[in-house]
Amino acid sequence: MIEVKRLEEILGQKEVVEYLTKDLKSKNYNHAYMFFGKRGIGKKTLALAFIKSILCQQGNPGFCGTCSSCKKFDMESYMEFIPFYDLGETIKIDEIRRILEEEHLKKYEGAYRVIFMEHAERMTEAATNALLKVIEEPLPGTIFVFTAINPDDILPTIMSRVEKYYLNNLSKINLAKIMTGLGYKNNQYLSLGSIDEARVLLDNIDEDLLDYKQFCELFLSKDLEKN
Ligand SMILES: [Zn+2]
Repeated sequence: MIEVKRLEEILGQKEVVEYLTKDLKSKNYNHAYMFFGKRGIGKKTLALAFIKSILCQQGNPGFCGTCSSCKKFDMESYMEFIPFYDLGETIKIDEIRRILEEEHLKKYEGAYRVIFMEHAERMTEAATNALLKVIEEPLPGTIFVFTAINPDDILPTIMSRVEKYYLNNLSKINLAKIMTGLGYKNNQYLSLGSIDEARVLLDNIDEDLLDYKQFCELFLSKDLEKN
């Protein structure tokens, strides 16, 4: 069972959400999307919100949560959603061939099929080239969604063929809201802009002892956001 946030619930990514909402409304989708941003910033959360909305049979521009696609999506049993979450430190050509197996590209029940891959920067050059062939000649209704940390690590050939979105670092206020939602207290001073980094910090120290001075000392050498 996966819980998917709605696009309008995503904090700190207003512009990206607006662009994606436009695509959802017009159903004029690009055949490949790539979301960039630092680790723990919510790339996967955003990607899943977008994908579930594409696949929903009723909701427009969001997802309805009650149609058969939405229900199956939540149960992780929707045939038209093919996720590849953890392909290891290096994504080799064999993995890409597995992703591009015919059965993954065939549609069964819906108007769209979405193939999702995290860490696109981990693809080898051979793997990227194998993927390119399919992205260059997209199959109708098949949409690729990728996440990656740094655009510099993606080969130009692929960069030129995907719709690129750059996620903002989270502001102090939004990060604090998310951390509070995750059950953390005393996080008002966090300003690293990444949920994962904030979580690592708070998991490794006694929250009740954390004060602003200590926080600053801990992260004196870090590049803190100003907002
Ligand atoms: Zn739905």
